[in-house]
Amino acid sequence: MNIHFLGTGAATDTTRRNCSVLINANDRYHLLDCGFTSAQACICRPESERLDTIWISHFHGDHFFGIPQLILHFYFMNRELPLTLLAGSADLCDKVGAAMELAYPGLTSKLLFKINYHQVDQDSATVCNGLSWQCAPSIHSQEAYGLRISTDSRAIYYSGDGRPTQGCIQLMHGCNLIIHEAFSQRSGDPSHLSLEECLELLKNPNINNLALVHLNQQTRQAIESNRGKLTGYDSTRVFIPDDGYSLQL
Ligand SMILES: [Zn+2]
Repeated sequence: MNIHFLGTGAATDTTRRNCSVLINANDRYHLLDCGFTSAQACICRPESERLDTIWISHFHGDHFFGIPQLILHFYFMNRELPLTLLAGSADLCDKVGAAMELAYPGLTSKLLFKINYHQVDQDSATVCNGLSWQCAPSIHSQEAYGLRISTDSRAIYYSGDGRPTQGCIQLMHGCNLIIHEAFSQRSGDPSHLSLEECLELLKNPNINNLALVHLNQQTRQAIESNRGKLTGYDSTRVFIPDDGYSLQL
Protein backbone atom coordinates (compact mmCIF):
# COMPACT_ATOMS: atom_id res chain seq x y z
CA MET A 1 0.00 0.00 0.00
CA ASN A 2 1.42 3.40 -1.03
CA ILE A 3 0.31 6.55 0.73
CA HIS A 4 0.91 9.92 -0.92
CA PHE A 5 0.02 13.13 0.88
CA LEU A 6 -1.26 15.52 -1.80
CA GLY A 7 -1.96 18.09 0.91
CA THR A 8 -1.49 18.26 4.65
CA GLY A 9 -2.86 21.69 5.59
CA ALA A 10 -6.03 23.06 7.13
CA ALA A 11 -8.70 25.14 5.36
CA THR A 12 -6.83 28.45 5.00
CA ASP A 13 -3.21 27.37 5.31
CA THR A 14 -1.10 29.77 3.24
CA THR A 15 1.76 27.36 2.54
CA ARG A 16 0.09 23.95 2.33
CA ARG A 17 -2.77 22.46 0.35
CA ASN A 18 -5.89 21.17 2.06
CA CYS A 19 -5.41 17.75 3.58
CA SER A 20 -5.90 15.05 0.95
CA VAL A 21 -4.31 11.61 0.68
CA LEU A 22 -3.90 9.45 -2.43
CA ILE A 23 -3.74 5.71 -1.72
CA ASN A 24 -2.54 3.02 -4.11
CA ALA A 25 -3.46 -0.48 -3.03
CA ASN A 26 -3.56 -3.61 -5.20
CA ASP A 27 -3.22 -1.42 -8.31
CA ARG A 28 -6.33 0.62 -7.48
CA TYR A 29 -6.32 4.34 -6.57
CA HIS A 30 -8.31 6.02 -3.85
CA LEU A 31 -8.48 9.64 -2.70
CA LEU A 32 -9.26 10.63 0.88
CA ASP A 33 -10.92 14.06 0.83
CA CYS A 34 -10.67 16.62 -1.98
CA GLY A 35 -10.77 20.24 -0.80
CA PHE A 36 -10.47 23.65 -2.49
CA THR A 37 -6.76 23.24 -3.19
CA SER A 38 -6.51 19.44 -3.41
CA ALA A 39 -7.94 18.79 -6.87
CA GLN A 40 -5.13 20.52 -8.74
CA ALA A 41 -2.53 18.46 -6.86
CA CYS A 42 -4.46 15.33 -7.80
CA ILE A 43 -4.84 16.04 -11.51
CA CYS A 44 -1.12 16.84 -11.80
CA ARG A 45 -0.43 13.18 -11.10
CA PRO A 46 -0.88 10.75 -14.04
CA GLU A 47 -2.43 8.08 -11.85
CA SER A 48 -5.39 10.40 -11.22
CA GLU A 49 -6.75 9.22 -14.59
CA ARG A 50 -7.24 5.82 -12.95
CA LEU A 51 -8.77 7.11 -9.72
CA ASP A 52 -11.34 4.57 -8.56
CA THR A 53 -12.70 6.01 -5.33
CA ILE A 54 -13.07 9.28 -3.41
CA TRP A 55 -13.89 9.25 0.30
CA ILE A 56 -15.44 12.43 1.71
CA SER A 57 -15.06 12.67 5.48
CA HIS A 58 -17.52 15.58 5.77
CA PHE A 59 -18.89 18.50 3.81
CA HIS A 60 -16.69 21.44 4.77
CA GLY A 61 -15.23 23.09 1.67
CA ASP A 62 -11.64 22.19 2.47
CA HIS A 63 -12.66 18.53 2.30
CA PHE A 64 -14.93 18.35 -0.77
CA PHE A 65 -15.05 21.57 -2.80
CA GLY A 66 -12.31 20.25 -5.09
CA ILE A 67 -14.62 17.59 -6.50
CA PRO A 68 -16.23 19.81 -9.19
CA GLN A 69 -12.77 20.72 -10.52
CA LEU A 70 -11.69 17.09 -10.51
CA ILE A 71 -14.82 15.96 -12.33
CA LEU A 72 -14.48 18.80 -14.86
CA HIS A 73 -10.93 17.57 -15.54
CA PHE A 74 -12.22 14.04 -16.08
CA TYR A 75 -14.83 15.44 -18.49
CA PHE A 76 -12.13 17.20 -20.53
CA MET A 77 -10.10 13.96 -20.53
CA ASN A 78 -13.10 12.04 -21.95
CA ARG A 79 -12.94 9.69 -19.00
CA GLU A 80 -15.07 6.58 -19.28
CA LEU A 81 -14.00 4.71 -16.14
CA PRO A 82 -16.68 4.79 -13.43
CA LEU A 83 -15.91 6.74 -10.26
CA THR A 84 -17.16 5.76 -6.82
CA LEU A 85 -17.82 8.38 -4.16
CA LEU A 86 -18.03 7.17 -0.57
CA ALA A 87 -19.01 8.86 2.70
CA GLY A 88 -20.48 8.03 6.05
CA SER A 89 -23.26 10.55 5.52
CA ALA A 90 -26.53 9.76 3.76
CA ASP A 91 -26.35 13.28 2.23
CA LEU A 92 -23.44 12.38 -0.07
CA CYS A 93 -25.30 12.38 -3.39
CA ASP A 94 -27.30 15.55 -2.58
CA LYS A 95 -24.27 17.53 -1.36
CA VAL A 96 -21.98 16.59 -4.25
CA GLY A 97 -24.81 17.08 -6.73
CA ALA A 98 -25.48 20.57 -5.33
CA ALA A 99 -21.77 21.50 -5.48
CA MET A 100 -21.58 20.29 -9.09
CA GLU A 101 -24.65 22.24 -10.15
CA LEU A 102 -23.37 25.44 -8.53
CA ALA A 103 -19.90 25.11 -10.02
CA TYR A 104 -20.70 23.74 -13.47
CA PRO A 105 -24.47 23.62 -14.18
CA GLY A 106 -25.45 20.77 -16.47
CA LEU A 107 -22.00 19.16 -16.53
CA THR A 108 -23.05 15.99 -14.71
CA SER A 109 -25.44 15.03 -17.53
CA LYS A 110 -22.64 15.32 -20.12
CA LEU A 111 -20.18 12.96 -18.43
CA LEU A 112 -19.16 9.82 -20.30
CA PHE A 113 -18.53 8.01 -17.00
CA LYS A 114 -20.86 6.96 -14.23
CA ILE A 115 -20.55 8.31 -10.70
CA ASN A 116 -21.60 5.75 -8.10
CA TYR A 117 -22.53 6.95 -4.62
CA HIS A 118 -22.32 4.65 -1.60
CA GLN A 119 -22.82 5.26 2.10
CA VAL A 120 -20.16 3.35 4.04
CA ASP A 121 -21.48 1.18 6.84
CA GLN A 122 -20.68 1.90 10.48
CA ASP A 123 -21.41 -1.55 11.87
CA SER A 124 -19.46 -3.67 9.43
CA ALA A 125 -16.91 -3.22 6.69
CA THR A 126 -17.98 -2.30 3.17
CA VAL A 127 -15.88 -3.90 0.42
CA CYS A 128 -15.43 -1.53 -2.51
CA ASN A 129 -12.81 -1.29 -5.28
CA GLY A 130 -10.49 -3.80 -3.65
CA LEU A 131 -10.45 -2.27 -0.16
CA SER A 132 -12.41 -2.79 3.00
CA TRP A 133 -14.00 0.48 4.27
CA GLN A 134 -15.50 1.14 7.69
CA CYS A 135 -16.34 4.43 9.38
CA ALA A 136 -17.43 5.84 12.72
CA PRO A 137 -18.81 9.29 13.60
CA SER A 138 -16.34 11.79 14.98
CA ILE A 139 -17.17 14.92 17.00
CA HIS A 140 -17.00 17.98 14.77
CA SER A 141 -18.96 21.15 14.02
CA GLN A 142 -20.95 19.18 11.44
CA GLU A 143 -21.61 15.49 10.73
CA ALA A 144 -18.19 13.91 10.13
CA TYR A 145 -16.63 10.44 10.09
CA GLY A 146 -13.32 8.77 10.79
CA LEU A 147 -12.39 6.01 8.33
CA ARG A 148 -10.53 2.71 8.44
CA ILE A 149 -9.41 1.22 5.13
CA SER A 150 -7.69 -2.11 4.88
CA THR A 151 -6.33 -4.77 2.57
CA ASP A 152 -5.63 -8.35 3.65
CA SER A 153 -2.41 -7.24 5.33
CA ARG A 154 -2.43 -3.46 5.85
CA ALA A 155 -4.78 -0.96 7.47
CA ILE A 156 -4.93 2.84 7.76
CA TYR A 157 -7.12 5.12 9.85
CA TYR A 158 -7.91 8.60 8.50
CA SER A 159 -9.59 11.03 10.87
CA GLY A 160 -10.86 13.75 8.56
CA ASP A 161 -11.83 16.49 11.02
CA GLY A 162 -13.03 15.97 14.54
CA ARG A 163 -12.46 14.50 17.93
CA PRO A 164 -12.46 10.69 17.97
CA THR A 165 -15.35 8.83 19.53
CA GLN A 166 -14.95 5.35 21.04
CA GLY A 167 -16.02 4.02 17.66
CA CYS A 168 -13.12 5.88 16.02
CA ILE A 169 -10.65 4.57 18.61
CA GLN A 170 -11.82 1.03 17.91
CA LEU A 171 -11.24 1.53 14.19
CA MET A 172 -7.67 2.68 14.93
CA HIS A 173 -6.75 -0.57 16.70
CA GLY A 174 -4.09 -2.52 14.83
CA CYS A 175 -3.76 0.01 12.01
CA ASN A 176 -0.30 0.32 10.47
CA LEU A 177 -0.79 4.09 10.19
CA ILE A 178 -3.06 6.66 11.82
CA ILE A 179 -3.49 9.92 9.91
CA HIS A 180 -5.04 12.39 12.34
CA GLU A 181 -5.92 16.06 12.33
CA ALA A 182 -4.44 18.23 15.09
CA PHE A 183 -5.99 21.60 14.33
CA SER A 184 -6.82 22.99 17.72
CA GLN A 185 -4.37 25.22 19.55
CA ARG A 186 -5.82 24.19 22.88
CA SER A 187 -6.97 20.90 24.35
CA GLY A 188 -10.68 20.47 24.96
CA ASP A 189 -11.77 22.14 21.71
CA PRO A 190 -15.30 20.87 20.98
CA SER A 191 -14.61 20.00 17.34
CA HIS A 192 -10.88 19.34 16.87
CA LEU A 193 -7.97 17.64 18.62
CA SER A 194 -4.90 19.55 19.74
CA LEU A 195 -1.34 18.37 19.10
CA GLU A 196 -1.06 17.29 22.73
CA GLU A 197 -4.31 15.31 22.54
CA CYS A 198 -3.13 13.59 19.36
CA LEU A 199 0.10 12.54 21.04
CA GLU A 200 -1.99 11.07 23.86
CA LEU A 201 -3.34 8.58 21.30
CA LEU A 202 0.09 6.93 21.30
CA LYS A 203 -0.48 5.77 24.88
CA ASN A 204 -2.83 3.21 23.37
CA PRO A 205 -0.58 0.18 22.71
CA ASN A 206 -2.68 -0.75 19.69
CA ILE A 207 -1.79 2.46 17.91
CA ASN A 208 1.47 2.41 15.97
CA ASN A 209 2.48 5.10 13.50
CA LEU A 210 0.88 8.53 13.73
CA ALA A 211 0.96 11.15 10.96
CA LEU A 212 -0.22 14.56 12.13
CA VAL A 213 -2.03 16.67 9.52
CA HIS A 214 -4.40 19.65 9.30
CA LEU A 215 -2.43 21.45 11.99
CA ASN A 216 -3.18 25.04 12.79
CA GLN A 217 -0.54 26.92 10.79
CA GLN A 218 0.74 28.78 13.85
CA THR A 219 1.14 25.51 15.74
CA ARG A 220 3.05 23.91 12.89
CA GLN A 221 5.33 26.90 12.45
CA ALA A 222 6.09 26.84 16.17
CA ILE A 223 7.10 23.18 15.82
CA GLU A 224 9.18 23.92 12.73
CA SER A 225 11.06 26.66 14.60
CA ASN A 226 11.50 24.47 17.66
CA ARG A 227 12.08 20.87 16.66
CA GLY A 228 12.35 19.94 20.32
CA LYS A 229 8.60 20.21 20.69
CA LEU A 230 8.09 16.57 19.72
CA THR A 231 11.06 15.37 21.81
CA GLY A 232 10.23 12.27 23.77
CA TYR A 233 8.33 10.67 20.93
CA ASP A 234 9.91 8.15 18.59
CA SER A 235 10.11 9.95 15.24
CA THR A 236 9.35 6.68 13.46
CA ARG A 237 6.03 6.59 15.30
CA VAL A 238 4.94 10.24 15.02
CA PHE A 239 5.66 12.66 12.20
CA ILE A 240 4.29 15.70 10.39
CA PRO A 241 4.32 14.90 6.66
CA ASP A 242 4.96 17.65 4.10
CA ASP A 243 2.80 18.10 1.01
CA GLY A 244 4.08 15.57 -1.52
CA TYR A 245 5.42 13.13 1.07
CA SER A 246 4.99 9.43 0.25
CA LEU A 247 5.46 6.26 2.22
CA GLN A 248 5.05 2.58 1.57
CA LEU A 249 3.39 0.30 4.09
ZN1 LIG B 1 -14.30 20.40 9.10
